[in-house]
Amino acid sequence: MITTRFAPSPTGLLHLGHAWSAVQAHEVARAAGGRFLLRIEDIDETRCRPDFTDAIYRDLEWLGLDWDGPVLIQSERGETYRAAVQWLAEQGLAYRCWCTRAEIEAAASAPHDGGPPAYPGTCKHRTPPWPETPHCWRISASAAGAPLIDDFVIERKDALSSYMLACTLDDAEQGVTDIVRGRDIEPLTPGQMLLQHVFGWPTPLYHHHPLIGTADGKRLAKRDKAPTLAGMREAGVDGRALAADLRRGVFPVGFGVLAD
Ligand code: GLU
Repeated sequence: MITTRFAPSPTGLLHLGHAWSAVQAHEVARAAGGRFLLRIEDIDETRCRPDFTDAIYRDLEWLGLDWDGPVLIQSERGETYRAAVQWLAEQGLAYRCWCTRAEIEAAASAPHDGGPPAYPGTCKHRTPPWPETPHCWRISASAAGAPLIDDFVIERKDALSSYMLACTLDDAEQGVTDIVRGRDIEPLTPGQMLLQHVFGWPTPLYHHHPLIGTADGKRLAKRDKAPTLAGMREAGVDGRALAADLRRGVFPVGFGVLAD
């Protein structure tokens, strides 16, 4: 059965871009008579807040987007994520890393496209005794047969897990068949496919939609104080009418799809 999901992180209030993403994921599921799931990606305790989670429920109800089954809350699943990392370590597919961001930036010599530099592999061949400072876990992409993929973090040192591990594991466990999300996440997809490959999980279909921006071509971002759904709701905007418009590609005045 076609299964999609909306997986926001409660680090701020949702904006129009989130609504458009949720509407599309909901529509793909409903048009096929399938399931639309909701997952709260709240592994980062320092940035996520329960009031933002509450606002997500209210926003979706206001938009008229009903979801199926229980909501999956990532902050309740630390043990599952840790066990998965442990399994990778036992297979020789993960290693501990103590490097700080500054060290990685200093050591990375390859030019990069403005994103974080690829991890240079400093800790890959380290042997005990381990340093006492906190460490994260990284996938060993080359050991997993994917040397062109960065050794991305699968368990953070400052959060319950990592986005890459938790998201991919949950998509598999929840039986998500079609992932509908913004183009901003597209560069992370090969790493998620690598995890599916090593764990033997099916690879869903990925649909990365363009992002919504302002008329002057700027992306909407939580940190830029983009108009929030909560704000529109409080201002008396009809959420179901907004969702109906978004469904047919009609945006509020001043907003539109960003070119690549
Ligand atoms: N939690 C992610 C975010 O809010 C989305 C994850 C995904 O759709 O894969 O940006």
